This record gives sequence, structure tokens and C-alpha cells, in this order.
Amino acid sequence: MLDISLPESLDAFWMPFTANRQFKAKPRLMASAKDMHYITVDGRQVLDGTAGLWCVNAGHCRDRIVDAIHQQAATLDFSPTFQMGHPGPFALADRLAKMLPGDLDHVFFANSGSEAVDTALKIALAYHRVRGEASRTRLIGRERGYHGVGFGGVSVGGIAPNRKFFGSLLPGVDHLPHTHNLEQNAFSKGQPTWGAHLADELERIVTLHDPSTIAAVIVEPVAGSTGVLIPPVGYLEKLRSICDKYGILLIFDEVITGFGRLGKAFAVDYFGVMPDLVCVAKGITNAAVPMGAVFARSYIYDAFMHGQESAIELFHGYTYSGHPLACAAAMATLDIYEEEQLFDRAASLASYWEEAMHSLKGVPHVIDVRNLGLVAGIELESIPGQPGVRAYNALVNCFEQGLLIRTTGDIIALSPPLILEKHHIDEMVERLSHVLRSM
Ligand code: PMP
Repeated sequence: MLDISLPESLDAFWMPFTANRQFKAKPRLMASAKDMHYITVDGRQVLDGTAGLWCVNAGHCRDRIVDAIHQQAATLDFSPTFQMGHPGPFALADRLAKMLPGDLDHVFFANSGSEAVDTALKIALAYHRVRGEASRTRLIGRERGYHGVGFGGVSVGGIAPNRKFFGSLLPGVDHLPHTHNLEQNAFSKGQPTWGAHLADELERIVTLHDPSTIAAVIVEPVAGSTGVLIPPVGYLEKLRSICDKYGILLIFDEVITGFGRLGKAFAVDYFGVMPDLVCVAKGITNAAVPMGAVFARSYIYDAFMHGQESAIELFHGYTYSGHPLACAAAMATLDIYEEEQLFDRAASLASYWEEAMHSLKGVPHVIDVRNLGLVAGIELESIPGQPGVRAYNALVNCFEQGLLIRTTGDIIALSPPLILEKHHIDEMVERLSHVLRSM
């Protein structure tokens, strides 16, 4: 058994997206994990209501993935993929291309969701340029969008605290309005019916700048990190048709929705709307080794494959693009998804999940519940003048009660591993409602 003991001081690790001083005064530390549960350093079992960070879709420490990583590390630990290669990323890309609908047939590998997003934005800009439309440089994101923490992703993202500390970010970026509206859509089950017209804002932005200046629009089909915002019926379709009208690329950031979260392999399948580029990460390797990827439709890849054969077509890539360990982990992960039919399993649990989540209506502090597939957002009324404090207190209390939840502002997000059983759903609801009632 691997033994990594805690140092006397926790000060050296500068924790990401965490109130470091608050956490270090009373840390929550995991020692191990298996399937649906974490075990904390003090030996308590915690039910994983969030699949880690929306990523451990097949459950924790799956033997098949562990073995694949182990064997790969012992056989070929690393090979460059710049002007060199190894079978891993070729085999994985081929398999992914077959999983994806239509002509989403080409895969560019990165190491995280943030890198996948910045890669997709760069591909979009370069695509217009190689086709002789270099004037298309503007990017359009959305308020309350989260696209990771690279400069590109933060620029198109719509979360004020993630942006305001870091200067003027990328120039030429606009934002669509978000689709969250409690007055219209509180306690909607599945896709809300109100809000498709908000996509028309794209038409306004395009007209304002002239279509010849716009490169791409990027959205999360279901916005996760800002509190599970489900797209209104018809909204994504409208974005697609406006993009088509003006020759703008549509990018779906499927870092959360990819690999079964909605009960289909991808949100592309779930909504039946085809973007031009898709970003994924997280569930691609079941989070056992970091990996991100961008899927591109054939005409995008083909646009780059002209000119001299000896010339590099895209000046972009990472030392670890297509890393052997990540490829091995991803192949084993896809085996599990397929053999255990986990995406269908998610689909078959979705209505039970929906009813369970909506049973929280009426529990103290709950002002909205929203859901799709195996994801849910539970919005709490904020304590006046203390935004986020109520949900954070719920997180701390849930952890003590043996349930891992995720919070953003005063919204609780749940997105369990897809292997869960109905009794896990019951346990989640029971523990969460107990915590909320006692607060
Ligand atoms: N895009 C989306 C939609 C995400 O949810 C996330 C991470 N939660 C990212 C991008 C960034 O991924 P990473 O943290 O792996 O860089």
C-alpha cells in the first residue's frame, strides 16, 4: 500500500480555487477511493456525489484502468508526438472518431479541459485564416460560461472573479446572455421551455460587428461550473442556425457533458445539434490520468491539409499531447463504458434521479432544482450579504455526514459516477436534506 503521510505544515501547497487559509485550518483530505466512495485520512467513508470533479464517470480506482496505466508505464513511459509517434493516440483517436456522430472525425489531444478549450479557439482562428478569411478574429462566449483557466478560456468565459484579476484578457471577445432565469424556469424538470429567444442575441452581436469579423461561438451545452444551467428547448438549435447563416464556427465545450453525463455519449448526441468543434477532458480517462481533446469535423481538418506536404499544418501542441499513460487509461476507460453500457445506464436512471432531486423542493433554503441526465443543480437562498456562505456550510456539513457535494456560489451541483445504484441516489437526497434542515 502506497503511504504518503501528511507533512507537519500544509502551507507549501498553494491550492487551486480554494480558500487556502480556511481549508488548511480544517482540511478535508481523501486517502483512498473505490467505486462510489472516498475514504478520508481519518478513515471515514464519503459517498461521491460529484464523481470527483465531474470526471470519475466509471467510479473510482477501476482495476482495468489501473492495470492499463501500470502496464503502459512499464512498457513505454513517454514518446514525443511531435514528428514522432507511438500507437496510443492513433488508436484512441480512431476509436473516438467512430464513437462520435457525423464527420467529427479528427482528434487533437491536450492534457486538460483548459488546454482543450484554448486549442479549439486557436483551431477556429487558424481555420478561417487558412481559408483566406483572416478578418474573422472575434470570439463569442457566454455570461456564466466556464471554459477553464487559460487566457482564451477565461476570456470567453463569463465568471467575473475568474476574469477581473487578470488584466484585459483577449481583445475582440463578446458574451451572449446566460439562460438562467428563476422567475420563468424555477423547478423545471429537464430542459426549461422558456429562453430559446436568448440565442437571438447572437444575431445582434454579429450585426454589430459584421459577420466577416466573427470566428467562433463557444458554449457549454449544459453549463456545469456555474450551477448546472440547462439549455432551454430550442436554444442550441437556434445558435446553430445563426452560426450557419453567417459562416461562424460553433464550439461545444463538453468537458462535463462528454462521456455519458446526460445518458448519451455526448451532448451532441443528446441534443442532436452538431457543432464544428467539441472540447472534452475529464471522463475521457475517468480522470485517472490528465487528458483533454478537441474533436474537429472533417472540413476543418481538411482545410489545414493543403500546401506543401513537408510543412507543419498547425503550429500548436503540447509535450504531452497523446501521452502514452493517458491513452492507455482512455482505452481502458472506453472499454468499461462500452462493456458496462454506462451511458445507457445513466439514461435509465435519469427519471429516478429527476424525481429524487425534485423531492428536495420544499426543503428549507431550496429555491430551485434543475436536472438533466445524471446531473442536478440545487439552488439555495443566499444569506443576505453573504453570497455562497450557505452552500459552503452545506458542503462542510455534508462532508461530515459522509457525502461529497460541489458548490458554486449558493448552488449545489451533484453529478455522481454513472455506476451508482438507486440506493446511492436515496442516500444523497437523505443526507443533503438532513443537512439543509439542520442549518
Ligand atoms: N470547460 C468546462 C466546461 C469545465 O467544466 C472545465 C472544468 N470544470 C474546464 C473547461 C476546464 O477543465 P480543466 O480544469 O481540466 O482545465
